[in-house]
Amino acid sequence: MKIGVLALQGAFIEHVSRLRSLGVDAIEVRLPEQLEDLDGLIIPGGESTTIGKLAVEFGLVGPLRHFAEQRPVWGTCAGMIFLAKDIGIDRQPILGLMDIHVNRNAFGRQVDSFETDLKIAPLGDVPFHAVFIRAPIVTETDAGKGVDVLAQLEDGRIVAVRQGHLLATAFHPELTDDDRLHRYFIQMIEKG
Ligand code: GLN
Repeated sequence: MKIGVLALQGAFIEHVSRLRSLGVDAIEVRLPEQLEDLDGLIIPGGESTTIGKLAVEFGLVGPLRHFAEQRPVWGTCAGMIFLAKDIGIDRQPILGLMDIHVNRNAFGRQVDSFETDLKIAPLGDVPFHAVFIRAPIVTETDAGKGVDVLAQLEDGRIVAVRQGHLLATAFHPELTDDDRLHRYFIQMIEKG
């Protein structure tokens, strides 16, 4: 199995090492042709405006959209923003593939980073220690589009969703030792 990690900006190295530790052939993706033989792709956290701008410059927006229409893609944090169809900002380039509405920097500038234990439905009862860094949240999912909510904060705010072969998480699972979400994504690819 070969999984790419979009490596334009942000926390891509951590995802590559995590995937390699799980026995996956992982590569850093910067060029459209690198997408060709991948089984799946991770879009890491970072700064979504920068990732979007570089994706436009590198001619990656069309190829990424085409890839994500067919094969599994997991966006974390900025990657979640990049996958969403609505982020309330028109000028910022996004892929616009998941039927979710996302609010960037949802926790404001004061409490911009925090950690919490999250119950993530498909991972069972053991909580997942989640690191949020200037994180977005999903404010709304469109009804009837097959968007499953996988995790919510205690106040109900949505921080993980899956829509078919697309997965999005608002936090940084590559920054903790828990590899269950990476394993979950690998299983999504295996099950096709
Ligand atoms: N706040 C960033 C953005 O708007 C996302 C932060 C992150 O990926 N950790 O893109």
